[in-house]
Amino acid sequence: MKKLTLAATFLVLLLLLTFSFKPSEQAFLILVDPGHGGKDAGYVSDEKGLIEKDLSLNFAQRLIEVSKAYSDIKIISTRNSDEFLDLKERVAISKALKANLFISIHMDAHNNASMQGMSLMIDENSKYKSESLALAESIISQLNADASVNMQSDVSDFDSFVLQNVDCPAIMLNLGFLSNSADADFINADDNIDALCKELIEALLAKE
Ligand SMILES: [Zn+2]
Repeated sequence: MKKLTLAATFLVLLLLLTFSFKPSEQAFLILVDPGHGGKDAGYVSDEKGLIEKDLSLNFAQRLIEVSKAYSDIKIISTRNSDEFLDLKERVAISKALKANLFISIHMDAHNNASMQGMSLMIDENSKYKSESLALAESIISQLNADASVNMQSDVSDFDSFVLQNVDCPAIMLNLGFLSNSADADFINADDNIDALCKELIEALLAKE
């Protein structure tokens, strides 16, 4: 009898925990997808010892941390460690969570080390192209209003399996060129990333 009571208590606790961690129906759920991971390092800057998969994961973790100050928004990351996820797994996570917005995080690199700046991409073949474009434009105007953030004003269309296949608006944010010294230093500083995350969230809330 005592065992049964303990089991029942445990079950009630488990149910309480399950429901208290369930995202509120009202919260706007953003799935942030840090590019690369595990065996896929992405771009590696030998000069500064920076690796794209680590910086994209750091951005996702900073974004989740910064978002805790905003009750209307809930952010989950496709990966929380240095693990390899293929593109289909990233799409499947977005569908399972019924995310309202998917943000893929990458960095650029170019042989010409003077190329620099952040950029946003959307997929022109996405069912959600117009919503994605509207969000991207809101983010660009918000970031350009802040003199400390150097954002290119263009939104580029490109072909992306992930952006095309998730069931929600989707954008890819390129944080800058790791092949450019100033951009690499910017991306590698948590203060800059926190400020960028705050601007990003404000832009999304203004648009929602
Ligand atoms: Zn990348």
